[in-house]
Order: sequence, then structure tokens, then C-alpha cells
Amino acid sequence: MDIRFWGVRGSLPSPGPDTSQFGGNTPCVEVRNEGEPLIILDAGTGIRKLGMEIINDPTVSEIHLFFSHTHWDHIQGLPFFAPLFSPKYKIKLHGPVHYSKNLEEILSLQMEYTYFPVRVAELASELSFHDISEEKIKIGNGITMETKYVNHPVICLAYKVTKDNKSFVYITDHEPYRNLYADADEMGKEEGRLVVEEQMQALIDFVEMSDLLVIDGQYTPQEYETKIGWGHSSLDDAYALARNAGVKEVVIFHHDPDRTDAELQQMLKDLQDRVWDPSTRTIPVRLAREQLVIRLSP
Ligand SMILES: [Zn+2]
Ligand SMILES: [Zn+2]
Repeated sequence: MDIRFWGVRGSLPSPGPDTSQFGGNTPCVEVRNEGEPLIILDAGTGIRKLGMEIINDPTVSEIHLFFSHTHWDHIQGLPFFAPLFSPKYKIKLHGPVHYSKNLEEILSLQMEYTYFPVRVAELASELSFHDISEEKIKIGNGITMETKYVNHPVICLAYKVTKDNKSFVYITDHEPYRNLYADADEMGKEEGRLVVEEQMQALIDFVEMSDLLVIDGQYTPQEYETKIGWGHSSLDDAYALARNAGVKEVVIFHHDPDRTDAELQQMLKDLQDRVWDPSTRTIPVRLAREQLVIRLSP
């Protein structure tokens, strides 16, 4: 299984000389398994270049695109995804169930004529929409996709891709559950603590022993204190989940749009200094950057 990053930035694209090393495109991750349908996680602006590569690759015909959620930074590249415009491709779009609108309605809105010249109904590819919740989905001959709700201001799913006993977990736009009882009274706080413990354990169980965890680590611990409830984690929270779940490697994702390359490198170094402990195993941690490829060999 090859995991390639096409967009690693949260909230808003941030091109420019200060971000060229890690990249300024919003979330998009490609998951390739030989002889299997192509999997894509999120359609931020990074998906445009991936689409161009797919067009030049005769081996791709079926594509499963999974949205973590439908905030703008995760859907905005979709109208520029070239395979949508070709009858050669069968494309399945999967995303979390919403109370008011289904996935097709939500994605069609950003392609209304006021915003974009081509409407969803006019796309040439064989397109289908799938509203999903917490479930297990079989893809191709040997891929399993599992989903889990995470903690964000809108309904948001984490994904686990498993093939040949190798697993990769993708958690973007997630905040540790501790914000859930921040404003509660004493009784509410006690109840809140129990809910938080339960939710945290459920997430650890979901991630448990995976080979690779890609996870939101947008803030420094100091920044997080002023952004509680915004739906993102600090690097330390991201690392703590990786350690508690015993993953083999962790990649920090969804970088802040204001963060320069130099600042990102410093953030990583500071984290590594904080978590280094010679008495326990330190989990390898790196920062997501565009065109980084990680191979999980069976
Ligand atoms: Zn986001
Ligand atoms: Zn979001």
C-alpha cells in the first residue's frame, strides 16, 4: 500500500515562498494498492494535480473518494478533479451522513452555476454518491475501509484502510474530546469526564496497532489553549494518541495556513524534544508534506 500526500494544509490554501517545502494545498491523500481501485481521502486543492496524474495513468478506472467532512478545505478541489469530466472513470463519492442535506446536495451546491460553470449533472464520469456513518466497507478484492466519528464542529469521519494485514488510519480535523465539558457545572463535569474517557478509548481502539497514523496536529500546545472548541489538535495530542494506540509511525497533518516551513520544522523539533524518553519506545514522527510517499509493505 502506497500513501501519497497531495495536500497537507488546513483551512485555506497557502502558496508562496515560505510554504513551498511542505506545500500550500489543502487536504488530499492518495492510497494506492496494486490491482485495486484507487482510494482518495478528501478533495482539497491538492486533488487537482492528482487528477492530472490519473488522466495519464492507464491503470486507473475505478476511484473511491472519501470525504472526512464537507468543510471547504476538504471539498474545494473537487470541481477541478479532471477524471470527473471523462466517461472512462467510475467514481464513487463517500461522505458522512448529515441531518439536513445528503452528500450529493452538499457537493452540488459548490458547483451551482453561480460558483462554477459545469454542474454535477453535466459531469461525464460514471458518478455515484454514498452517505456513510460508522461502518465497514469492502473495496475491490481485498481492501477494507472502516470509519469512526471524530470530534469536530461538523460531522467528521476518520478512516482506516486495511489490506494484506497492513493498516493506515487517517484522522483529520479532530480535537481531543476534553472540550466537551469545558462549560459544564460540577455534575455535568463528572458526566462529561466519563463520556470523554469512553470516546477516547473508542478512538484508541480504532487506531490500535496500525502501521501508520496520519493525524491533525495543527497547533502548538500553547496555541491550543486559545483555540479550544475549534476542532483541531495540538501536536502533543496527536502524538499521545499514537503512543496510546501503539502505532508504528505517526505523520502530523493539516498544518496551519500561517505556518512557514521554518516554523513547521521548529515545531517538530520541539515536539521530539518534549516526547523523548529513553525508558520507553519513541514513535517515529514526521510532518506531512506534498509528494511524500509512504509504503506499507505486506
Ligand atoms: Zn480542515
Ligand atoms: Zn473542518
